[in-house]
Amino acid sequence: MKISVLTLFPDMFNGVFQSSILKNAQEKGAVQYDVVNFRDYTEDRHNRVDDYPYGGGGGMVLTPQPVFDAVNSIKTESKTEPRIILLCPQGERYSQKKAEALANEEHLILICGHYEGYDERIREHLVTDEISIGDYVLTGGEIGAMVIADSVTRLLPGVLGNETSAVTDSYSTGLLEYPHYTRPSKFLDYEVPDVLLSGHHERIDKWRREQSLKRTYERRPDLLENMELSEEDKLYLKTLNKSEENS
Ligand code: SAM
Repeated sequence: MKISVLTLFPDMFNGVFQSSILKNAQEKGAVQYDVVNFRDYTEDRHNRVDDYPYGGGGGMVLTPQPVFDAVNSIKTESKTEPRIILLCPQGERYSQKKAEALANEEHLILICGHYEGYDERIREHLVTDEISIGDYVLTGGEIGAMVIADSVTRLLPGVLGNETSAVTDSYSTGLLEYPHYTRPSKFLDYEVPDVLLSGHHERIDKWRREQSLKRTYERRPDLLENMELSEEDKLYLKTLNKSEENS
């Protein structure tokens, strides 16, 4: 996969793309990041990429020309039709499902806004997706682009050492993940649940499933509404419901 990022602040990506799993993913050849300063594409003789909003009001607006030209230049070099994603607080709320869908693409172009926002024609005539990483406003789209690049990269084949670890992650299964413990089995006065030390895989799987259901029931009951649950899951959830009623 190739991930192209259009930004006015390319240096922001150095730490994130040159560390940990994202760095390894590039070294393994699973992903290629291409960080492009779209100021390089401006035709403005003062190198500007923003201008005052028509109609007045505060803040500066990104002009369409450098963004269109940067995207079109990247597109002509692309072997496939890329997904062109605008980072934008008004977009579709980002989720693990969306990350999974994007991980099937061959080329993503992420456009990071700044200032008051974009000229509307970028939104209307250039992009395929608008993504918000949450209901809050950031200074720019760079942190959102990092969120997308990270969450997509870790899903690419061969990127995580243990292929199953992304499969059980929270949201991948539709549920929140069960709790983890490691050595020592007793720390201060706190002990690891006996079942995890039992070596009995069937019991461990059952315990993990129930813990996932319990966490999701307690913290994100909305996730359970659209899930296909087994009869065993439903019975377990009923016991949670009952113990809540009795307390
Ligand atoms: N005036 C805009 C509005 O109210 O919708 C907000 C502009 S914000 C200060 C500047 C840029 O940061 C946006 O164009 C976008 O690229 C990025 N940004 C801010 N919040 C974001 C969010 N929640 N998700 C994704 N990108 C965001």
